[in-house]
Amino acid sequence: MRRGRLVVVSGPSGAGKSTLIRASLEAVPELAYSVSATTRKPREGEVDGRDYIFLSREEFEKWIDEGRFLEWAEYSGNLYGTPEEKVEEYLESGRSVILEIELQGARKVREKRPDAVMVFVRAPSLEETRKRLKGRATEDDKALEARMTTALKEVEARSEFDYEVVNAEREQAREDIINTMRNIVEGDKDAERA
Ligand code: 5GP
Repeated sequence: MRRGRLVVVSGPSGAGKSTLIRASLEAVPELAYSVSATTRKPREGEVDGRDYIFLSREEFEKWIDEGRFLEWAEYSGNLYGTPEEKVEEYLESGRSVILEIELQGARKVREKRPDAVMVFVRAPSLEETRKRLKGRATEDDKALEARMTTALKEVEARSEFDYEVVNAEREQAREDIINTMRNIVEGDKDAERA
């Protein structure tokens, strides 16, 4: 059986990655989602094992020592990482796997797995990013500013990616990402690059 493809989806916080990924998973059955581990506290409505595997810092560090992460990174004061075993299982069974990760992690994956496909998702402007982060109301002002600073840096990295989806208009962005994912799953890495 043909192995699935590793698909990295990255981009500034507040770009709407999660919503677009959810739409992709519904529309493209060959795709699976890699559930990350994190030391961040669960937000309201988040379920352990579905949204994240919520670990204490000690547990997370143990997983690092045991070599269980494909990549991990520190972001806004918390640790985030991709457990490798599940990803491998999916790839071997022929399913492509989406990793929704921040930029440092995305770069590590690209280094380790040069055949990974890199997808960048961003809001149409930084102002829009700020508005969306504020609207989410899960971050206090300090955390919001930290995320904005990181967002600025992340936008500069977009040329490192194979595809770019600009989330300006919801329906259009949904269509764009689904088409991108279909291309990727069909193994068409060079077609319709952004
Ligand atoms: P949030 O706290 O908003 O859920 O996530 C913060 C950032 O961490 C987002 O940019 C998200 O994509 C990223 N992230 C989530 N899981 C992982 C992971 O496993 N590895 C890395 N490097 N980043 C992750």
